[in-house]
Amino acid sequence: EAVKPANFLRNVIERDLEAGTYANRQWGGGPGDAARHAAGVPDAARVRLRFPPEPNGYLHVGHAKSICLNFGLARDYGGVCHLRFDDTNPEKEEQEYVDGIKENVRWLGFDWETSFGNNLFYASDDFDFMYRAAEALVQAGLAYVDEQSADQIRANRGDFTTPGTNSPFRDRTPVQNLERLREMRDGKHADGAMVLRAKIDMASPNINLRDPALYRIRRAHHHNTGDKWCIYPMYTFAHPIEDALERITHSICTLEFEDQRPFYDWLLERLVELGLLAHPLPKQYEFARLNLTYVVTSKRKLRQLVEENHVSGWDDPRMPTLVGMRRRGYTAGALQLLAERTGATKNNTWIDYAWLDIALRDDLEAKAARAMAVLDPIPLKLTNWSDVFGSAATEPCSAPAHPHHPDMGTRQFALSPTVWIERDDFLEVQTKGYQRLFPGNKVRLKYGVIVECTGCEKDADGNVTAVLATVVPDTKSGTPGADLVKVKGTITWVSAHDGVPVTLNLYDRLFAVPQPGSADSLTSELNPDSIKVTQGYVEPSAGSLPAETRVQFERHGYFVTDRVDHRLDKPVFNRVTTLKDSWGK
Ligand code: ATP
Ligand code: MG
Ligand code: MG
Repeated sequence: EAVKPANFLRNVIERDLEAGTYANRQWGGGPGDAARHAAGVPDAARVRLRFPPEPNGYLHVGHAKSICLNFGLARDYGGVCHLRFDDTNPEKEEQEYVDGIKENVRWLGFDWETSFGNNLFYASDDFDFMYRAAEALVQAGLAYVDEQSADQIRANRGDFTTPGTNSPFRDRTPVQNLERLREMRDGKHADGAMVLRAKIDMASPNINLRDPALYRIRRAHHHNTGDKWCIYPMYTFAHPIEDALERITHSICTLEFEDQRPFYDWLLERLVELGLLAHPLPKQYEFARLNLTYVVTSKRKLRQLVEENHVSGWDDPRMPTLVGMRRRGYTAGALQLLAERTGATKNNTWIDYAWLDIALRDDLEAKAARAMAVLDPIPLKLTNWSDVFGSAATEPCSAPAHPHHPDMGTRQFALSPTVWIERDDFLEVQTKGYQRLFPGNKVRLKYGVIVECTGCEKDADGNVTAVLATVVPDTKSGTPGADLVKVKGTITWVSAHDGVPVTLNLYDRLFAVPQPGSADSLTSELNPDSIKVTQGYVEPSAGSLPAETRVQFERHGYFVTDRVDHRLDKPVFNRVTTLKDSWGK
């Protein structure tokens, strides 16, 4: 087990475990919770964390960071991580996204169903409690119904230099407010006619404490509660309550929520005073979101890419969505490594995209079978074949499936009078340092024989159409004396006899600028060459793989058979990433 890099969240959790901060939490500690949880049952989970996505889109690499962080901390400290759908915004949420998010979390290697039970929650399941909490705040004089328009509310909020102005509705009595809140609930008022606001401090230096909205009127069908409600809680109100009801210990979110923390604490403390919740309360901690260079992780911008057809869909292999990254061939293991290596910090920085590729290589190096592929094929004709091999049509060759894991077996393939090689493995005239094929030079066909280049064939326009070479006798790999002839270059190849034709999608970064997303036009930042599709050949061991199988094509990098388009009779490979070192100069 690798050493876990220190991060401040681990320190917080360890401190709390040592101090016993959450040792005696019980389900049903407050009366409001009794409906869902049996009272008086101590919580066996040492910590409870949560991943709280809004089911309004596809998860991306930034969410993967949050999932790995929260589920990883829960695993490491004998606790559990909840999957909670923050479904307080009825219009934008769909079952399709709920299902997709569940699949993403499981694919990443985590589960909300553990020995601590099935920890799948919907904020909307607690709308009743939230409404009761709202009434309790109103009755205690801590919330009021504001009939100002949205524009007036905004204008009266003030800004960083100007304190806000009290609403003319702020001094209504609790009885008046309760009556109006119930009218809101009962559908007596139009959408947007009024909102429920907390009554805190319109002069607070923290704008989030200037009487934030708690409930709004919105006649919209909800995927879970149907048409039961025409008022919906604001996220900032629902989220702390959800954390408390689920007995979350450490509520981890990204830095932009830092200014919300005082309201989070204010709300929960008031609800304890009102007898609706009990100590110990969850605490919010903020960490820096993951920003990867050349990647955009705003849902809105990703949607734009899909809707304007810059990509083929949410699962386009160039997309940083988890469905896209999975299709591209990135592994759950690589994303876990990236999350661990980037840790949890308080500084918003950009992480070099190379970190992801390094993590992918580290994850796959020991696991992926090797094979040879030719991405840009040109025939190499072995002109003295019958002198060396007589009448045999082919000569059998083999190679280990993995150089360090004999248990993975061997690959078999044939050498034949014509083989496919990379177009750039031949030069008519040698350039400085070039060690591959040029007239008079000898190279080894990897796992095969040494050949000596004799020239090439050209078409009428002078384009090279085939490379010519002779086999150097008695040089077959693995036979005695094979290495007596010394060569400086080795090239990969695939036999024209048993090579399998395949489509290869060679991807590059989707954006051309390292920190995309800040320009006015997203499309001006796109990389025009983010995909190149080629027709190539692979050796037989890679020619009949099931979909979503990863392989390392020697020299070329890690590839995966496409989850969607790959067929046994029409193989399609996506390049995940190249190999670190450019191989064979
Ligand atoms: P977006 O801004 O892309 O719409 P979001 O933050 O609104 O994403 P949510 O569904 O609310 O999307 O996110 C669920 C969780 O994932 C939140 O706790 C959020 O903090 C976290 N998260 C989102 N983006 C990142 C990121 N880039 N790095 C780390 N965590 C992230
Ligand atoms: Mg959000
Ligand atoms: Mg957001």
